Amino acid sequence: MPAQSCLFLCLKDNFGVLVHDPETRATAAIDAPQAAPVEAALKRTGWRLTDILVTHHHGDHTGGIEELKDRYRCRVVAPDAEAGGIPGVDETVREGDRVRVGGLEARVIETPGHTAGHISYVFPDDKLAFVGDTLFSIGCGRVIEGNAEMMWDSLLKLRALPDDTRIFCGHEYTLANIRFAKTIEPGNAALAAREQEVVRLTAEKKPTIPSFMGEEKAANPFLRADVPEVVQAVGLAGKPAWQVFAEIRERKNRS
Ligand SMILES: [Zn+2]
Repeated sequence: MPAQSCLFLCLKDNFGVLVHDPETRATAAIDAPQAAPVEAALKRTGWRLTDILVTHHHGDHTGGIEELKDRYRCRVVAPDAEAGGIPGVDETVREGDRVRVGGLEARVIETPGHTAGHISYVFPDDKLAFVGDTLFSIGCGRVIEGNAEMMWDSLLKLRALPDDTRIFCGHEYTLANIRFAKTIEPGNAALAAREQEVVRLTAEKKPTIPSFMGEEKAANPFLRADVPEVVQAVGLAGKPAWQVFAEIRERKNRS
């Protein structure tokens, strides 16, 4: 049976999400920004929390872990490289490891750059990817602990996922990301289409994610640093893609 998911907002603009296996009734929270909205989502769905899969150590992704673990005795899975900075960790994982949530199976992809040990969880059978603060819809995370080359490599790993993979990211930043993306590629038709959709969803007070990887590849400038139109737009013809990426990231930081 396919996985089910439940998406909700936490804190100011963080997304919380539950992934549920209807067969075994196992349920994982991907990150735990805050306990109360996770519990409210559990109540709404009638699911019981069995696991928390952590993408990185930032407090707005881990603040709810201790309270939820106390209450549900759930297992906490976290990136090996950041386990020391995350409360309640039971298991650590690295590139290529498999994590089971009941009958569902996630593959771990190391996606450093935003933080040095950031990981993403991909459920290949269900074509779901939980990418934390590495990739946002039409954007990407700030490069805080790593460097631009590292972040570009991480984005390339995610870009290699099938186009029909649903991308769940850590924050609702899509509208602001689109405004910035238009400064890079004002004539991108896929970006214009995504803008229309996002304006409508925002007016209806609905989340703008998940998006499909295919849509991100067509419209997200941070995944397009090796596309000739984008390279030209930032005036870096002949430079390696990671430098083009670094320039786009710099411009976004200043925007
Ligand atoms: Zn973060």
